[in-house]
Amino acid sequence: MKTCKKCNKEFDENLTFCPFCGAENADRKLTYIERKKAREEDTEFMLSKASIQQRDIDSAKQANLDDIKAQKIGDLKAEQKKSFARIFAGATLMLCSLLPAWLLLHEDINPNLKWIVIVVAFLVVATGASVLISDIYITRALKEMEKQDFTVKKVQFNKGPMFVYNGALYELVAKNTCPCCGTEMHIEDLDNDIYIVCSTNRNHIYKVDKEAFIESFKDKIEQKWE
Ligand SMILES: [Zn+2]
Ligand SMILES: [Zn+2]
Repeated sequence: MKTCKKCNKEFDENLTFCPFCGAENADRKLTYIERKKAREEDTEFMLSKASIQQRDIDSAKQANLDDIKAQKIGDLKAEQKKSFARIFAGATLMLCSLLPAWLLLHEDINPNLKWIVIVVAFLVVATGASVLISDIYITRALKEMEKQDFTVKKVQFNKGPMFVYNGALYELVAKNTCPCCGTEMHIEDLDNDIYIVCSTNRNHIYKVDKEAFIESFKDKIEQKWE
């Protein structure tokens, strides 16, 4: 750990620039080239830290089960239907806008208008394709999770890892702040294992005892029915 000369916050010693305020924290004045290289190395380091690595797992402490909860998203079948519907709508929209464009290009029209048609058609395809790709991924992930209860997977970019139990889809969320530094935490998954990770310092990583988590989760669900 090193302390920023400008904002006094602590950050990883592998970094040259403070991740909080952006101040340069080198031992001496850097040249333009050195500074450029340091920035690239910082980015590379941050990216390598953005997913769980073997060394993180080795240093992971045991998580407290009170720090994690499973939040019900909805019925798995309903979520699958929604995803299918989006794929269908996206594909239909693309076809409906491309067909007229294609016909228009075969007409004898103003060349400027032709370019506009090409650009619009290209934009429609690009947006449509990105929606399709993400929904195709979601559909496949849900299919995989459906096979066995408690298969943990990251399904959506902006949501925590999810799992299926009794035909319902659940999202894993961190309940408390980091016991080490007090900032927010989030859930990550690797090889079907669950980790609670501090959002500012990846060295603060806690492994969830999955068996114990499943036990307590089932207990809570049954309590609700009684
Ligand atoms: Zn700083
Ligand atoms: Zn922390």
